[in-house]
Amino acid sequence: MHYIYCPKCGEKLTERPAGDDGMVPYCESCQRYWFDCFDSCIIALVYNEYDEILLERQSYLSSQYMTFVSGYITPGESAEECTYREIKEETGIEAEKLELICTEWFARREQLMHGFIAFARKADITCSKEIDEARWINYREAQQYMFPITNKSTLSTLYQRFCKEKEEGLR
Ligand SMILES: [Zn+2]
Repeated sequence: MHYIYCPKCGEKLTERPAGDDGMVPYCESCQRYWFDCFDSCIIALVYNEYDEILLERQSYLSSQYMTFVSGYITPGESAEECTYREIKEETGIEAEKLELICTEWFARREQLMHGFIAFARKADITCSKEIDEARWINYREAQQYMFPITNKSTLSTLYQRFCKEKEEGLR
């Protein structure tokens, strides 16, 4: 998001040079720059010891396709803390370890996605209210339920990476 008015005091912003960043919106009253901002989010492929991955359906995203656990990073937490928290909140599952695989810009929603692969032991799923359905599904059969991986997305990146590592015996 590009600021035109100061989010603190409402004053119309001017532009001022900010070193290597060129001209940046500036509030004369608050005497501070307002750099363009965007949401930081996580998405996590969670797998268990039985070759299954965690898929969930959220009707506001799609009534048809399932996806991985995802959520907004909140101020004060790291991407890793957010990922453990979102997995627990949305599905009741406690991840044991996770690994940051990639960060990707999601242009349509102006979000910086942090893509993780997380391991959790198989346990019963308890969906939060924002989730319509969540299930453990064998990773080889998961594609028929997921958003198409032909779309460029962090979901696709994580899924393809996981399948490749499985084939190579790395997971
Ligand atoms: Zn201001």
